[in-house]
Amino acid sequence: MALDELYREVILDHYRNPRRKGTLDGDHIHAEGQNPSCGDEFSLDLRVEDDVISDAAIQGIGCSISQASGSMMAEALVGKSLDEAAEMTRLFKQMMGIDEGDNPVDPDRPGAVLGDLEALQGVRKFPVRVKCADLPWTTLESAVQSLEAAAG
Ligand code: ZN
Repeated sequence: MALDELYREVILDHYRNPRRKGTLDGDHIHAEGQNPSCGDEFSLDLRVEDDVISDAAIQGIGCSISQASGSMMAEALVGKSLDEAAEMTRLFKQMMGIDEGDNPVDPDRPGAVLGDLEALQGVRKFPVRVKCADLPWTTLESAVQSLEAAAG
């Protein structure tokens, strides 16, 4: 087992120094998620203006994979449109082997879109940890759904 591939330096760095840790004031959407199989918890605040994510804040406890995934996700989301965020979610889940979908991702493309998040692709080889990496993304989907529900 190549554990060093699971715990790559960029992952440990995000775990030790999570980006955008905290909460947002003012108008924002909020979602929380849990991964009981590992004990991970994650909460996400997003400010969305004109269908663009203008700010993001995260809080969580749990393993390095879940928290690093959340930190990298939060960093990557700011400045993205909701459509781009949905595309990132799709690419991430495909990279993790969660959702192959009907349209296989161009192997040259995920890296360009996902950036540092590509460091998590080694997690795919550890099926029990895939849920850890996926937790922030599931939480993101909940947040976006709450926005769509509020927009009616
Ligand atoms: Zn975990």
